Amino acid sequence: MAGSSIAYELVKRGYKVLRIASSAPAASMAAYGMLNPVHIRNAQLIWKAKEIYPQALAFYKELEQVLQIKFSKETEIHHLLSSNEEAVHWRQQAETGMLGDFCHGEVEFIPQSSLNTLHGCIKITGALYVDVPLMLTHLHQWLDKHQSPLLFYEADEQLWSYHESGVRMNEFDASFVIHCQGVGATRHPLWKNIPFRPCKGEVLTLQFQEPAPQVIVHKKIFLIPLTNGTYKAGATYVWDDLTNNSTKEGAAEIIYQVKRITDASFIIKEQVAGIRPAVADRRPVVGMHPCYSSVAILNGYGSRGLILNPYACNALINHILHRIPIISDIDVQRFNKRLLAKE
Ligand SMILES: Cc1cc2nc3c(=O)[nH]c(=O)nc-3n(C[C@H](O)[C@H](O)[C@H](O)COP(=O)(O)OP(=O)(O)OC[C@H]3O[C@@H](n4cnc5c(N)ncnc54)[C@H](O)[C@@H]3O)c2cc1C
Repeated sequence: MAGSSIAYELVKRGYKVLRIASSAPAASMAAYGMLNPVHIRNAQLIWKAKEIYPQALAFYKELEQVLQIKFSKETEIHHLLSSNEEAVHWRQQAETGMLGDFCHGEVEFIPQSSLNTLHGCIKITGALYVDVPLMLTHLHQWLDKHQSPLLFYEADEQLWSYHESGVRMNEFDASFVIHCQGVGATRHPLWKNIPFRPCKGEVLTLQFQEPAPQVIVHKKIFLIPLTNGTYKAGATYVWDDLTNNSTKEGAAEIIYQVKRITDASFIIKEQVAGIRPAVADRRPVVGMHPCYSSVAILNGYGSRGLILNPYACNALINHILHRIPIISDIDVQRFNKRLLAKE
């Protein structure tokens, strides 16, 4: 997500971009695709929602036009309440302006017999569903067509050297390298001291065998209707298993949560896992390495890659091309002490 997007932004501006990939799994291919400006667990807007959300919407709209493919859909989220106290909390948050225009904090009862809504639900408007694999497949094709070749090199086949006017990887010279390695950065010598807190997630694709909710529902997990009775359900959050393997425990947790949402029966069609590149302070990591002026990083999207990515890409592009400072919340140089520390 990060690498392809910044490549797109640079190619669009007329720069030559060589993409270097490895076979390491991408979290982006596991994402269930929700872009939501509201932090549901805290009942408040996410960090900088009012600024980054419109940028994100504009980015995906532009990409759909350029790639000539529809991969996103504006949508509502129905968050199922667990108690009357929770309903009161949402109302108070809405009254004090903590939810902007995205939620009015009123309890609703949606007339769908397949939904278990004892306490009603809270409607969040203005969310976006993005079919991430579809978007990325088409974006990769566009980049291939627009002179941004993709080369595969495993990490241990990449021989990097850094000098004042640029970088060299094997036989390729460039003015800059932008590292968009997701959780791979936790193993990279230049970045491994960033306080990453990688978090595994699993998602199921379900086939319902009887009518199930026709709206996007959230209760601990998202249940997202696709087509012909298929749904995405997820995700889990696990910190002590950082393999990309799907697990029985992950499936069991999601099934348990789906059954709290609906009584309709289903079978599992697919299970995927990925590792979110999260950082201790939960902010993206963007900018230049303190020792190498031609080495940048674009990372740290955690569980909110879709909404953070356009803003973070823009900040890095403006910095590299126009020397506009990166705000300190996301600047990688907030970790300078760690990055400069001797092993
Ligand atoms: C189960 C799950 C569900 C999620 N659902 C959502 C969601 O609904 N909405 C949302 O906004 N976010 C979601 N996320 C989070 C989102 O997926 C991530 O924030 C985002 O994908 C991170 O993108 P990235 O490009 O930084 O990293 P990645 O997608 O992990 O990409 C990193 C890339 O770097 C490559 N790489 C690694 N090392 C090297 C190397 N040495 N050389 C070359 N290439 C290398 C890898 O092969 C990979 O392609 C979810 C995450 C998970 C795990």
